[in-house]
Amino acid sequence: MSKSSMALYERARRVIPGGVNSPVRAFGAVGGTPLFLRSASGAWVEDEDGRRYVDYVGSWGPMLFGHAEPSIVEAVADTAQRSTSFGAPVRLEVEMAELVTEMVPSVEMVRMVNSGTEAAMSAVRLARGFTGRGKIVKFEGNYHGHADFFLAAAGSGVATFGRPGSPGVPLSAIRDTLLARYNDAASVDRLFEAHGDDIACVIVEPVAGNMGCVPPEPGFLEALRSLCSDRGALLLFDEVMTGFRVASGGAQARYGVLPDLTALGKVLGGGLPAGAYGGRREIMAHLAPSGPVYQAGTLSGNPLAMAAGKAALTRILKDAALYDRLEALGQKLEEGVRKNLRDRNLPYCFARVGSMGTLFFTDRRVTDYEGARSCDMARYAQYFHAMLKRGIYLPPSQFEAFFLSSAHGDDEIEQTLAAQREALAEIHA
Ligand SMILES: *Cc1c(COP(=O)(O)O)cnc(C)c1O
Repeated sequence: MSKSSMALYERARRVIPGGVNSPVRAFGAVGGTPLFLRSASGAWVEDEDGRRYVDYVGSWGPMLFGHAEPSIVEAVADTAQRSTSFGAPVRLEVEMAELVTEMVPSVEMVRMVNSGTEAAMSAVRLARGFTGRGKIVKFEGNYHGHADFFLAAAGSGVATFGRPGSPGVPLSAIRDTLLARYNDAASVDRLFEAHGDDIACVIVEPVAGNMGCVPPEPGFLEALRSLCSDRGALLLFDEVMTGFRVASGGAQARYGVLPDLTALGKVLGGGLPAGAYGGRREIMAHLAPSGPVYQAGTLSGNPLAMAAGKAALTRILKDAALYDRLEALGQKLEEGVRKNLRDRNLPYCFARVGSMGTLFFTDRRVTDYEGARSCDMARYAQYFHAMLKRGIYLPPSQFEAFFLSSAHGDDEIEQTLAAQREALAEIHA
């Protein structure tokens, strides 16, 4: 079917573990050969055989404006002319920090890093250093990158492969990681009852995106806010996926709940490797060199990443109607999907927050990890391949959210819905 991808995959598997540099890319949850992509523009990606697809992966989140967005490409090319790295402070870092603190409501100061993993991991270190406490609360099915102490019930890549954690993570590393149930504030309350004064922070995806898209139930984020405030723990929003995605100020702006610390990534870097964490000034001041909590990075605040990020965030600020357009597009897709599923009489749960969402094959409403895991993975795999065959590139796992970009339009949506009608007929047979 995709000859060039198969040949490259063969070569890749000889020299790269599993043939990929991040597990979920390998199509393990849906079977088959991953597509090797060679170029992309706007809402479309092209594989090594020259076949084109409407892209709903969006590089797993960063591509809010679609691929090869001219202002981002220009900014990167232009910056590269003047060196790709200095390891000294640069103007672009200041401009990025000013943009982030202007846009994200709770962030007064921000530190740049190179990935979402680094952002979440460093934010937890800071929370522990600031509070002088050791334990953290995380939710089952939430993913915060691959740092050791997060790899307990970590959703998506980990869940996809049916592993509770990972070999190589010592028990001692997750001993201080307490697990709660998403959308269940009472489960957090019980942990505070048992471990009250030892909990440094509660880390949460304010809209879960790594067990598929699972929105917060009304009152859930508010309850976490007041539990943390009451108990002297920090509330840490992992907005690596939701930041600049569900609103220009992220989920905290959309839902009006302010965390103490925020982790960012994905859209932040405009498609280049960048992450960041930030929060209240008094907390951030605990970071070296102004405070005692150590964290560093040779390429942190890299000029190319800052140039791409600045171009992306500037575009967001210039386009007052951006999120309304993304919402309208998401709504159009949602209505069509719901109609297609009803016409076929297939049980489903469709969750969407703005331009991110998931079609779950289940007859229950998915509100937590247990619900997500109850889905029919085999049906999702069939659906994925039936769509791929028709030129629609969906995330290759039931546990991954799809993303729309501002480059998607009515034509792409209609093409997707037409392909879906055929695909559903095929998998229902
Ligand atoms: C993607 C993601 C991460 C990890 O970011 P990387 O850049 O892949 O290290 C962390 N948290 C959330 C919520 C994510 O979606």
